Amino acid sequence: MTSDRPTPQPGIFDIDPYVPGKSKLSGAGAIIKLSSNETPFGASPKAIEAYKRAADGLQLYPDGTSYELRQAISARYGLNMDHILCGAGSDELLNLLANAYLGPGDEAIYTKHGFLVYPIAIRANGATPVVACETDFTTDVDAILEKVSPKTKMVFIANPNNPTGTYIPFDEVQRLHQGLPANVVLVLDGAYAEYVHANDYEAGIELVSKNNNVVMTRTFSKIYGLASLRIGWAYCPFEIADVLNRIRGPFNLSAPAIMAGAAAIKDEQFIEEARAHTRIWREWVSKQCQTLGLQVTPSVGNFVLIHFPDAHKFNAHKADDFLISKRIVLRRLDSYHLPNALRMTIGSADDCRATLDALAEFMDPDNQQPDHQGSAPQNG
Ligand SMILES: *Cc1c(COP(=O)(O)O)cnc(C)c1O
Repeated sequence: MTSDRPTPQPGIFDIDPYVPGKSKLSGAGAIIKLSSNETPFGASPKAIEAYKRAADGLQLYPDGTSYELRQAISARYGLNMDHILCGAGSDELLNLLANAYLGPGDEAIYTKHGFLVYPIAIRANGATPVVACETDFTTDVDAILEKVSPKTKMVFIANPNNPTGTYIPFDEVQRLHQGLPANVVLVLDGAYAEYVHANDYEAGIELVSKNNNVVMTRTFSKIYGLASLRIGWAYCPFEIADVLNRIRGPFNLSAPAIMAGAAAIKDEQFIEEARAHTRIWREWVSKQCQTLGLQVTPSVGNFVLIHFPDAHKFNAHKADDFLISKRIVLRRLDSYHLPNALRMTIGSADDCRATLDALAEFMDPDNQQPDHQGSAPQNG
């Protein structure tokens, strides 16, 4: 059949474009932006220095193998460099995996409140996303295994998950892997792995090392404070690394990204401070929310999922409007099937306090909330 206009591949018009957390508000004045899980600490000074040094060579193509960065990652985790692949954010790596292993007729599984980049990557390759339910906002291994069919080619889980903040222990990840056919790629997205303090957690290194169908992805966008530079990496079985290397852009990371990333991963002291801060303030925020009568899903990441009462006056959209009137921006989660929750990134101590003060004001029954006409623009 011919068409009178260019026609994209099937599946592409089924994609809802990804809507990032709000980063701007109208009107003047600073905002407290806790909508995108960015770190309040910025990047390591060593990474910033390396980035500035890179300014001297902007006329040159970068090293297409990202050698310096892969070497720094391999030294940090004791991994074979040939199994590490860097990408322009882990988003690129998730898309490369889908490009390589998914096509029309295939299915890929992700979880009910899973990261929205997964269904985009799945549909962009003509494959069908299959959603497994979660239990208590947590990945449910049995629910995933029930969805496996002969068409299944890939399973994506974020562990810890975003936007719920929950994780599954390593023995559950192993049980998931054992239940999958050998031709299914299990993608373990460890974007928040650095934040987890739990003895039963493992991001996936061991499982990748011992199998040929598991990939772990990681990012420099969160605890390393380099979201703007777009740096991610994957630890893969050699065969999968070889496949992805064939289809990636030949210069997929910029030289400033390679140099800043390599310096960042060496600054362990900086990361340790961010980890410690996040843990303390995540617990503080969770407790304070509970004191206000707001339920919080237990989180191991740098964010918390706050559930609002169903009562019209106190629902999440009203809370979001109220916070925005105070120039505080959290993340609305309608597109994650969590319309009555907001996700709050753990920011600086001052930002956490200001946000909890505002939430206390919002939840105060004696406080007359102005009934906002209409809602702020819907924001996934
Ligand atoms: C933030 C995040 C990422 C990181 O994406 P980048 O492209 O590396 O910035 C990956 N997965 C999840 C679940 C995330 O929340």
